[in-house]
Amino acid sequence: MNNIGYLLLNGYALLILSILCLIFFLKKRLKKMEDQTYAKILVLSLITLIIGLILGIVVSNNNVPVIIQILFNKFYLAGLSVIITYFTFYTYIISSKNNDLEEKYNKINKGVFVFLITVLLIIILIPAQFSQKNMMIEGVSVYLAYGIISILYLLITYFILKNIINIKNKKYIPIILLVLEGIVSVIIQLIYPEVNYLINPSIVVNCLVMYFTVENPDVKVIEQLNIAKDQAEKANHAKTDFLSTMSHEIRTPLNAIVGFSESLKEEDLPESALDEVNDIITASKTLLDTVNGILDISKIEANKIEIINSNYDFHKIFNELVVLSKARLGEDRPIEFRYELASDTPKYLYGDYARVKQVILNFLTNAIKYTNEGYIDFRVRNITSNGICRLIITIEDSGIGIKKESIDKLFDKFERLENENSTIEGTGLGLAITKKLVELMNGKIIVQSIYGKGSQFMVIIDQKVVNVKENKEVEKSLEQEKITNDLSNKKILIVDDNMMNLKVAARLLKQYNLQIEEADSGFKCLDLINGGSSYDLILMDDMMPKMNGKETFKKLKENPSFNIPVVILTANAISGMKEQYLAEGFNDYLAKPIEKPELNRVIKKYLDK
Ligand code: ADP
Repeated sequence: MNNIGYLLLNGYALLILSILCLIFFLKKRLKKMEDQTYAKILVLSLITLIIGLILGIVVSNNNVPVIIQILFNKFYLAGLSVIITYFTFYTYIISSKNNDLEEKYNKINKGVFVFLITVLLIIILIPAQFSQKNMMIEGVSVYLAYGIISILYLLITYFILKNIINIKNKKYIPIILLVLEGIVSVIIQLIYPEVNYLINPSIVVNCLVMYFTVENPDVKVIEQLNIAKDQAEKANHAKTDFLSTMSHEIRTPLNAIVGFSESLKEEDLPESALDEVNDIITASKTLLDTVNGILDISKIEANKIEIINSNYDFHKIFNELVVLSKARLGEDRPIEFRYELASDTPKYLYGDYARVKQVILNFLTNAIKYTNEGYIDFRVRNITSNGICRLIITIEDSGIGIKKESIDKLFDKFERLENENSTIEGTGLGLAITKKLVELMNGKIIVQSIYGKGSQFMVIIDQKVVNVKENKEVEKSLEQEKITNDLSNKKILIVDDNMMNLKVAARLLKQYNLQIEEADSGFKCLDLINGGSSYDLILMDDMMPKMNGKETFKKLKENPSFNIPVVILTANAISGMKEQYLAEGFNDYLAKPIEKPELNRVIKKYLDK
């Protein structure tokens, strides 16, 4: 053996391994079985390399007693056996499909430990002689050690072959390399017994390859994070599916309740019955608000809520809010409702009017809910410059107020303050949604409250001002929402398996004086169209037994001459559904319960020509 070459090569190998150990142990690691085993391989390799280096010095120095030379040789051989044992263990772990392996870790580890002690005893206790020719030991203990190492190699090969399907998995690269190295080093040893200085560097190469392929803690943490992310996404998916089904189940009967009650109001009813009808409407609208709240929060959590900007009449919104609040407040409560819209507030603004209205209405509703007597003050001021109108909206009440320490919790979802067990209805979602919406509109909320005295909520939102020139056009476009033509010659087909829904839709459409036909299934709709019936518009429910709306629509489109606009009508109002339906090719989307302005928009767009 060229001693200087041996020392240099092994010295480098030791240096590289020390750096690798330093990097590995300084990083945050996972505590999984394979990571812990790799850590052991690293430490054992380092110890074996140091022993190997001392051995190189000891055997080349004639002054060192033979017994010491034999002892270091044995230690070195023992070190190699231990490393190969842990490599075998590592291969077993990564090739095992056994999911409960982690739980058995301690037991398996003990087994490995007992095996190692046996091997070490064999190597240390069974005698060996020092061969001056090869400068290494020979004898029974060496042959036994090589025998054990060979068996371990066979085991590694067996574990790899057993899972040959996973062979593409990069976890196997270092193991296959190790087997190849083993075979090559046995061949070299057989031909040139004195060349043994390649073993240590090859161990280091292996540790390095393992580190860069699979055992880099950063990569492992990312892998683990990806798994956790996948699981969370799956759970979220399940939640969305559940919400979608639930919203459908609740909104379908609600559709019927709201629709029928609204049309009952138009009948000639006795005073007491009218009161009850109004109560039904209020109750079902509250329920609808709750369902919508849950849908909104799920949209917000999925980052799917959109701000849809358009020109709108802010003064009209203000008036609507006043009317709504007055109606909600009723006349019997000892509360004075005061309101003021600063006269210099621009009439036409550009923004998401529906969300602006939702935010303000939520504060007003809370003020109404949490005030027993005194006043509610609704005020809108503005600072307008450079085409931007900063709306400063304050809602003040002389209600129950909020404790200082509770203010932070106010905007958390499902958080209701000490009135949790009181009779005031609520889900604790309103302010969580409101806060997110205001954030999405780049606005701000300021809360001031004195417990027992009252609260003041201030919302600040910037909206673009529609300039004077455009004002006329906006006025015209808002005006245009009114139906101007006579629609009595227009024919519409409603497809829905639920009789009640058919009736509600027909009632809602009554005011347009259209010709209405109904089909209670997708099959019936196909029969009508294929039979030559012609319509100006089809309103199609999605969730129908046997053939749903989407399937019916696909079948309709198979006929190349089919060109009737089809609007999907669905209680599935979960976020992203609208886009999905439009991508399927539907012309438009109406959510149930059908809202009058939305229906009006659709009728205007497709029939008022
Ligand atoms: P909900 O009203 O459905 O419970 P919100 O998220 O709208 O849920 O409000 C959260 C909590 O904040 C309410 O439960 C209530 O305790 C408190 N709160 C909100 N507005 C007021 C107010 N104007 N006065 C007193 N407490 C209020």
